[in-house]
Amino acid sequence: MSTDNNLIPVTQLLDFVTDIFCEAGCSREESARIAHYLVESNLAGHDSHGVIRVPRYVQMLRDGLVFADRKVDVLVDTPALAVLDGKYGFGQTVAPQATEIGIEKCRQSGVSAVTLRNSGHIGRVADWAEMAAAEGLVSIHFVNGAGSVMVAPFGSYERRFSTAPYCIGVPVADSHPLILDFATSIVAEGKVLVASQGGKPLPADALIGPDGKPGSDPHLLYGDYGGPTGLRDPRVGPGAIRAFGDHKGSGLALMCEVLGGGLTGNGCTETGRQFTNGMFSLYVDPAKIDPEDFFPADVKRYLAFVKQAKPLDSDGETMLPGEPEIRSRECRTRQGIPISEDTWQSIIETAQSVGVSQVPANVSPPG
Ligand code: NAD
Repeated sequence: MSTDNNLIPVTQLLDFVTDIFCEAGCSREESARIAHYLVESNLAGHDSHGVIRVPRYVQMLRDGLVFADRKVDVLVDTPALAVLDGKYGFGQTVAPQATEIGIEKCRQSGVSAVTLRNSGHIGRVADWAEMAAAEGLVSIHFVNGAGSVMVAPFGSYERRFSTAPYCIGVPVADSHPLILDFATSIVAEGKVLVASQGGKPLPADALIGPDGKPGSDPHLLYGDYGGPTGLRDPRVGPGAIRAFGDHKGSGLALMCEVLGGGLTGNGCTETGRQFTNGMFSLYVDPAKIDPEDFFPADVKRYLAFVKQAKPLDSDGETMLPGEPEIRSRECRTRQGIPISEDTWQSIIETAQSVGVSQVPANVSPPG
C-alpha cells in the first residue's frame, strides 16, 4: 500500500474529473458540477467524499445504478412542502435541485420541508447547508443511505444503520456560516476507503469485528479487496463501523434512518437494496422568525464567547463547526490537493477506461 501523496493543482483536477464524466456519458454541465462538488470536498479536507469517489461513480453509471442528467419529479407540492424523487440521478445534480426548491419555499413561507428519495450519492451534506446559508437560511438535514448497511448500533456488533449523516447550517452575519456536518458513525465509510488506499489511518476503535472487539483494519469492512486499486465493496466485510457517541450517537443515527430514510420514501437501510441517499431537510428563515433582528447579533456575541474558551493545548485553538473546512480550503486552494498514489492510480485507470488520456501534471510529493 503506497502512502506517497501527489499534489494536484485544483483547476487541473477539475478539468480532469469533468472530462472523465463527460466521456462516461454525462453532459458537460453535469460533469463540471460533479467535478466541482467532489473537488470541493477535497478542498474542505474531506478526501473521503472527494475525487476518490470517481471510480465508484463511473462504475455505478456503467451498472445502471445511477443515471446522467436527471431532473427531480415533484410528487407533493404545497407552499411549504415538497416531496421529491431523484430518480437515481447523480446526487450532485438532484440534491442542489431539492435545495433550491427548499430555499424558494422557505422564502415564501418562512419555513419549508423537503424530502428527497432515490438520489445518487449526495456527497458532503454541508454543500446543501452552505447553499441555504448563502441565502440567509438555517437548514437541518437528516440523511440515510438505503442499501448501505454498515454501522453497528450501540451495544451490538451487527450492522443495522448506514453512516447516516446529520447536518445543520446557520448563517452568520458578515462571516462564514456555522456548519455542523458529520456521519453518525465514528468515521464515514469514505474515511475507511481513504485509509485502505494509503491515506489517513482510522482511529483504533472506529470499526468492530465479528468477535465484538474494536479495530481499525479496513479489511473488517471490505473483506479481501485484492490489491491497491481494487474496488472496495463495503457490503462484504465481516465487521462493521461503530456508531459515534455511544447511545446518543446511535440514537441520532436511528433518527436519520427513520427521517432521511422512512419519511422520505427512500426506505430505511436494509440488506440487498441498491445504494440511494434519502434526505429530509428543514429550512427556516431567521428574518421571518425574528423580525427584531435579535438572532444575528446574539449568534455573533455567543460565537465570540465560545471562541474565547481556553484551549487544552497551549498552542491550540477552540474551533467552531465549519472552521476546519475553511482552513483546509484556504490551504489546499493555494497548495493543490494531496492524493495518495493508490487513489491517483485508480482514478487514472478509470480515466483511461472511458478514453481520457490527458492526465494532469502534478507537483509531487509535498514538502
Ligand atoms: P468529521 O468527523 O470530520 O466531522 C466534521 C464536522 O465536525 C464538521 O462540522 C467540522 O467543522 C466539525 N469539526 C471537526 N473538527 C472540529 C474541531 N476541532 N472543532 C470544532 N468542530 C470540528 O466528519 P465525518 O463524520 O467524517 O463526515 C465527513 C463528511 O461525510 C460529511 O461532510 C458528511 O456529510 C459526509 N457523509 C456523507 C454521507 C452520504 O451518504 N452522502 C454519509 C456519511 C458522511
